[in-house]
Amino acid sequence: MAFPVTRLRRLRRTGELRNLVCETRLTPDAFVYPLFVCPGEGVRKEVRSMPGVFNLSVDEAVKEAEEAHALGVPAVILFGLPDKKDEVATGAWEENGIVQRAARALKREVPGLILMGDVCLCEYMSHGHCGIVKATPFAQSLGAAARDTLKSARVVVVQSEQEKATAIEKIASQMADHARRIEFEIDNDASLELLARTSVSLTRAGIDIIAPSDMMDGRVGAIRRALDEAGFSNTPILSYAAKFASGFYGPFREAADSTPQFGDRRSYQMDGANVREAMREIELDIEEGADMIMVKPAMPYLDVIAAARERFELPLAAYQVSGEYAMIEAAARNNWIDRERVMMESLVSIRRAGASIILTYYAKDAARLLG
Ligand SMILES: [Zn+2]
Repeated sequence: MAFPVTRLRRLRRTGELRNLVCETRLTPDAFVYPLFVCPGEGVRKEVRSMPGVFNLSVDEAVKEAEEAHALGVPAVILFGLPDKKDEVATGAWEENGIVQRAARALKREVPGLILMGDVCLCEYMSHGHCGIVKATPFAQSLGAAARDTLKSARVVVVQSEQEKATAIEKIASQMADHARRIEFEIDNDASLELLARTSVSLTRAGIDIIAPSDMMDGRVGAIRRALDEAGFSNTPILSYAAKFASGFYGPFREAADSTPQFGDRRSYQMDGANVREAMREIELDIEEGADMIMVKPAMPYLDVIAAARERFELPLAAYQVSGEYAMIEAAARNNWIDRERVMMESLVSIRRAGASIILTYYAKDAARLLG
């Protein structure tokens, strides 16, 4: 029955009618609030590229978590900024690590709040990668280095002696870089042990849900076995199953001080072009024992969320990442968009795509609006 009998606008006439036929409802109990915990006391340091998001010392994190919980947010996910970093990510798994300390305090001060622990090594590694790095010198003669450099050098027209000197200097330094080149590789299997050790240590400190975000192959299975052996067979795993190598993580790296010192994360995080591969990643994590799965980032990957919802029966989470947050905040600060409206619209879109759990820096603000 088409127009004029059918008029879809009939049900859009008033707010009450629109609310009655609303298909996607947001409630604060879908939200997980990320917290960045740092050493010290009374520390509340705003992240430059994420206004409204802070590095918090344990005491301040407790206050922040109390506030979120009182607004109806059921869970927080913890990231740590350790005192020091090294090549084996000691800060991730030591008994008195920063997240371990925060977990103990939060368990004590905010009972009933679900504590998720992000499990990765990048924040604790001096090189900023998510696993153990194997470095091998790339054996190359000076002649070969020169050849490589000249092959990729661009032709520049020089007008003056000064420009000529600069151009020569540049080529020479590129040549030296080539000759010194070191090949880096992330050692997948060696990293699993550290990830498993971190998971057990976090659970021992009071973390309720282990959330590995490193994207090493086989890590869910390794973590499951380690948890079971340590007597934590009731601790669920929320796997960052489809985590894409994304430019949207930029502000997070400032917040968590986890920028890789060389190279990038494309050899372990997923290529943003691949949705079928994302389904394989998820499938494997489920086989290895994941209890819940996650897609990250959210807004640029809504189709991946929808595909995962269609295909898998597990609870599905999505992470509205730092870049998504920063874009909305920046535009709102310029009065280019209506902040609250875009914030809620972005969250509804993630829910509509199929995620029932949303990790978001807006957890508190959105819960306040919904309350
Ligand atoms: Zn990482």
